[in-house]
Amino acid sequence: MLKRLIPLLLAGAMLAACGSAEPTKSSTLQFFAMDTYMTLTVYGEGCDEAAAAARDEIYRLEEILSKTEETSDISRLNRGEALESLSPDGQEAVEEALARRQETGGAYDPTLYDLVELWGIGTDHARVPAEEEIAEALSRRERYDLGGIGKGFATDKVVQLLRGLGVESANLSLGGNVYVMGSNPEDGDPWRVGLKDPEDEQQIVGYLDLEDQSVVTSGDYERYFEENGRRYHHIFDPQTGWPADQGLESVTIISADSSMADCYSTALFVMGLEEGLAFCEGREDFGAIFITSDREVFVTENLRDQFVLTAEDRGYHYG
Ligand code: ADP
Ligand code: MG
Repeated sequence: MLKRLIPLLLAGAMLAACGSAEPTKSSTLQFFAMDTYMTLTVYGEGCDEAAAAARDEIYRLEEILSKTEETSDISRLNRGEALESLSPDGQEAVEEALARRQETGGAYDPTLYDLVELWGIGTDHARVPAEEEIAEALSRRERYDLGGIGKGFATDKVVQLLRGLGVESANLSLGGNVYVMGSNPEDGDPWRVGLKDPEDEQQIVGYLDLEDQSVVTSGDYERYFEENGRRYHHIFDPQTGWPADQGLESVTIISADSSMADCYSTALFVMGLEEGLAFCEGREDFGAIFITSDREVFVTENLRDQFVLTAEDRGYHYG
């Protein structure tokens, strides 16, 4: 039987390609939140209500974590209000972000608000700043930008909510963050998740079969601007203040913990291949797939049985 392929990062409509058996009821919602397109598909009894509740949960968390919404927890924190005055979810997100900064030796850093504003990538005032401006922004790390954890954090909360509602099967795509819950109700097999080709969003580089796992990619191709033929993307090296430039096109993290996967995909993209692989050493709670600018693909040992490379014809090869 043909497996359904979930194109990672592609918020496309999903078809119910069923055989003769009665199709499982499903509900799909597509909407814009947290600055990206999201697609949630929930299966089984009560799927309409569950999908709507999941969407509302994302809207609720967006109001807490947004750095632009004046009334959000993060805006209040950035205006100097105490962490203890935030909602439990706001506090939890900030505390996790700070712990992830520690774990990743600062490669993931949730306090780059001023640097991110300075570059303005993804806005109409994107520009290459002067070195002095970069140095100044780096010296001011008092304000939070949870752009590198928010979608993962929201994914974990939505999964919790759906489980509480008795949902057994769902697939969630929050922009670059995918979570597949349970198995595919059509055939009981794991979900097949495609890894988008960083150079061609219509294609995939390979796929994995997964249950109850999150798949999160950070890449240099999602948000960027070009000046004098150079590309400047939105993931910054907190040491230099410049877009991370370690010869990687993307890092994908696979883990049951989506907020961890979100932070780590950003962090390992900053670290680069060598340091990133060393970071993964001995870890069983996540796996990683690195794609270099030379189309080399590196897969951590714990994923080698699951990952299938399908883009050899386009020059992708194991490194
Ligand atoms: P995306 O948001 O496209 O899924 P990421 O999860 O990698 O990608 O997060 C990138 C966002 O996180 C940036 O838009 C910015 O707001 C913020 N950011 C950029 N560099 C870092 C970094 N080194 N650590 C933490 N957050 C970062
Ligand atoms: Mg991330």
